[in-house]
Amino acid sequence: MEIPFVDLKAQYQDIKNEVLEAIATALDGMNLFLGENTRALEREFARYCETSFAVGVGSGTDALYLALRACGVAPGDEVITVSHTFIATAEAIFMAGARPVFVDIEPKSYNMDPAQVKAAITPRSRAIVPVHLYGYPADMDPILDLAKEYGLKVISDACQAHGATYRGKSAGALGDAAAFSFYFSKNLGAYGEAGMVTTSDEEVASKIRVLRDHGSAEKYSHTDIGVNSRLDELQAAVLRVKLRYLDEWIARRRANAEIYNSLLPGGSVGMPDEFPGWKHAYHLYVIETDHRDALQQWLGSRGVATGIHYPVPIHEQPAMKRYGHAQGSLPITESKARRILSLPMYPELTMAQIQHVAGCVQEFYAETPAQHINA
Ligand SMILES: *Cc1c(COP(=O)(O)O)cnc(C)c1O
Repeated sequence: MEIPFVDLKAQYQDIKNEVLEAIATALDGMNLFLGENTRALEREFARYCETSFAVGVGSGTDALYLALRACGVAPGDEVITVSHTFIATAEAIFMAGARPVFVDIEPKSYNMDPAQVKAAITPRSRAIVPVHLYGYPADMDPILDLAKEYGLKVISDACQAHGATYRGKSAGALGDAAAFSFYFSKNLGAYGEAGMVTTSDEEVASKIRVLRDHGSAEKYSHTDIGVNSRLDELQAAVLRVKLRYLDEWIARRRANAEIYNSLLPGGSVGMPDEFPGWKHAYHLYVIETDHRDALQQWLGSRGVATGIHYPVPIHEQPAMKRYGHAQGSLPITESKARRILSLPMYPELTMAQIQHVAGCVQEFYAETPAQHINA
């Protein structure tokens, strides 16, 4: 049995007619510059996240960058974030001219440890960027309290967290703004590049509308130095169709996670936690093991594709050293990077596929004790 890491063909088969019709309608209208689909998606996604505004942009990376700028992050500022994330979190901070200051993660949630944030605050700190990694929310209440106390902005990296909630609030409604990615493999994925910022701050929303379109609110008048980062009208048409299915898809991801939890050998691998009142959207299903590389190889040779999110923390990436941003050790981040393994996770996974994956993990521990002890 071959089990891919994600299966976008299966999803496409389910929605093909609606997607093709939406694209055809958009093309018939030929209104491709921030047209009705972009405006409608912005309204619909803001409603989905229970925020007042949503602004469509070119990618999740741009969503972060533009949100940082709209929240006042400027050259010379420091932005507190985590190293256990995709590189784009830090890239966006550099793009805004600021410097990322990495703090360690909390071992159960894999997200920013609020207890580490206070010590990282300096007079140059301007913002905090917690990441809701794997689709699981960061512990936002203590982070928001600190931000309030020190006058810092909070911009969520919600690029993996469409549909996640924290104490009843959408991941898009936590902090001053949140950045979403519609990269093809995300919980809500386009058929090209796209992103979105959600916010309930009208000034932040209108600044991003100007920045995403060459610093222009009115044709031929440029009131700021912006970029070209508009949401593509065809991607918006596709995303509007998919948004209608998002909650159903997340419910299926959650059901699949429960099956994994019940079938995997709990004594041998660590499984994702879900604290009461926090809703995991299971963009990724990540387990922990002392024998990660051997288990990954074992699964690969049995047709099970896996991933590592992420094997090298940002503070250890060559680019950080190259630009003089080497930072001291982050022990939990570094230890997790050696232990984590992402198993196949998507709404269309079948029971038989999950049983096969879990069965292979069980066999690894049952049949090859010597291998896993020496791995
Ligand atoms: C995908 C992702 C991004 C970047 O999104 P793009 O749309 O690929 O630019 C940023 N942060 C995290 C955590 C992501 O997973």
